[in-house]
Amino acid sequence: MRELLRKNIANLTPYSCARNDFTGEAEVYLDANENWQDFVKKADANRYPDPLSVAVRKKVEEVLGLPFSKTVLGNGSDELIDNLLRCFCEPGKDSLLLMPPTYGAYKVFADINDVQVSSVPLTPDFQIDFPSLLDFLQREKENRSGEGRLKLLFICSPNNPSGNAFPLDEVRKVCELFDGITVVDEAYYDFSEKESAVGLLEDFPHLVVLRTFSKCWALASARVGIAVADEEMVSVFRSMKYPYNLGTPSQELALKALSNAGEVEKGLHLIKEERERLAAELKMLACVQTVFPSDANFFLVRVTDAMEIYNYLAGLGIIVRNRSKELHCGNCLRITVGNREENDRLLAALAAYKER
Ligand SMILES: *Cc1c(COP(=O)(O)O)cnc(C)c1O
Repeated sequence: MRELLRKNIANLTPYSCARNDFTGEAEVYLDANENWQDFVKKADANRYPDPLSVAVRKKVEEVLGLPFSKTVLGNGSDELIDNLLRCFCEPGKDSLLLMPPTYGAYKVFADINDVQVSSVPLTPDFQIDFPSLLDFLQREKENRSGEGRLKLLFICSPNNPSGNAFPLDEVRKVCELFDGITVVDEAYYDFSEKESAVGLLEDFPHLVVLRTFSKCWALASARVGIAVADEEMVSVFRSMKYPYNLGTPSQELALKALSNAGEVEKGLHLIKEERERLAAELKMLACVQTVFPSDANFFLVRVTDAMEIYNYLAGLGIIVRNRSKELHCGNCLRITVGNREENDRLLAALAAYKER
């Protein structure tokens, strides 16, 4: 792992904040230039937050089974994706590999970091194209010069926008083929019946698994993401992240949700039921051609005319995502599974839609 790091990250002396120097409990805190007054009563916002999110990570281990020593929390998984790029990819030299169509943020953060993006597209039915991947990795290795190399490979599973998860043995195969850092983004893992890549960490210390509280845990606004990785990698992430990347209100919201895991489980069950119903009903509509199988809380749906149907729905106050411009996604909308009433409204609107 060390030899893959950017030089400046490998040699980094991390910023040491007051709450890194002192971690115990005390009565008088005069070490961080905080205001001792709390104007927003009970918000507990006058003190700097725990930089290591210890309480949340303990609860994460207890409830989600992700080992305390192997986790680091980010301001959403977005921060963790950006940090991965900043840890491993030398701007203007190194590159990362995507398998489009996939989550747009990877490319945006790559562009921001001046990191080149290479692509090995998924097949038209959104599966990993192993012959092409093998070929690409082989060529990359052969053409490797001193001037940078392929450092990161992102697998989004379940994949956004297609909705399907990749079988664990395929993720394992990618880890075996690739000698850089494989990142498995499991933002929608909770909705899937497929196995998590976390179990592969023992065999592959070059693996990073990302989770988030933004989807199944219904805390998109709190901005809490989790990276699970080998201890050595996690310590690098800790050394270079913003010291106070996660505010106390966010940490408390994550703790609350985890303490309420039974409710979340019930909510998940509801979403899965609605997912089944929505798929069945969508398939019967005249304007729907294909409902792609989903392991997530959304469907990629091929319709007769995506732009027109998007506008038609928007006119009725129903907003979906038009993904027609994405690779293999011609005339496709991405539709989130809403609550029963929302789904009914969507279905009624689509049933009433007449092609012009
Ligand atoms: C929604 C989503 C995330 C979540 O990002 P946060 O920054 O944690 O809100 C991550 N990856 C994918 C693929 C997503 O669709």
